[in-house]
Amino acid sequence: MKRRKFIQKSILAVSVLAIKPSLLLADSPSQFELPPLNYPYNALEPYIDAQTMEIHHSKHHGAYVKNLNEAIKGTKFETMSLEKILENLTSKDTKIRNNAGGHYNHTFFWKIISPSDTKEPTGKLAEALTQKFGSTEKFKEIFSDKAKSLFGSGWTWLLYNKKRGLFIENTPNQDNFAMKNIYKDTASPIIGLDVWEHAYYLKYQNRRNEYIQAFWNVLNWKEIENNYDKALKSK
Ligand code: MN
Repeated sequence: MKRRKFIQKSILAVSVLAIKPSLLLADSPSQFELPPLNYPYNALEPYIDAQTMEIHHSKHHGAYVKNLNEAIKGTKFETMSLEKILENLTSKDTKIRNNAGGHYNHTFFWKIISPSDTKEPTGKLAEALTQKFGSTEKFKEIFSDKAKSLFGSGWTWLLYNKKRGLFIENTPNQDNFAMKNIYKDTASPIIGLDVWEHAYYLKYQNRRNEYIQAFWNVLNWKEIENNYDKALKSK
């Protein structure tokens, strides 16, 4: 009897231990995580240096993820996907706006930059850029000028929606065009450039223009063309 009880207790203890991680997950279904980079921190040298990449990804993006998890805890946003959070937040949800935006924008950014031999867009996107801006070169010029004109911290975007087609806009801080209650003209991001000083200051200091020029050397045009394809198919 004693022995049997002991065995039962042991089995119980083991099974409690075994299910504990999944219980933890169930307690917090919307814990966001820092996505890994698909390339090493030094992969974009000499255009974006390894130290900047490491701090930017692990510390800055890491902090947005951590602060987002804290900000949504116990709110109606806790069980939403990142996209749903962006769609539903309002200008009153400052901490969620900054950190959900930060998580979304950086996750997007790491994908559209990468070590690549492809220096120019091709296919449908190249045609659309030429039609809208005159040429790919002219598009890069206009986009770069828009990034240079951004005052303070923010992002420069190439966006697409049905109403405006391809267009270029800046957003302050970590805002983006998925925030439906803040940007009525919602649009899909095709390219996003992080123009915060933390994205370039270690290497370029005050020379923002040089960082913007360097950006064109690290674009993952395959991913960007995929973004355009997806945008054309979206509502
Ligand atoms: Mn950043």
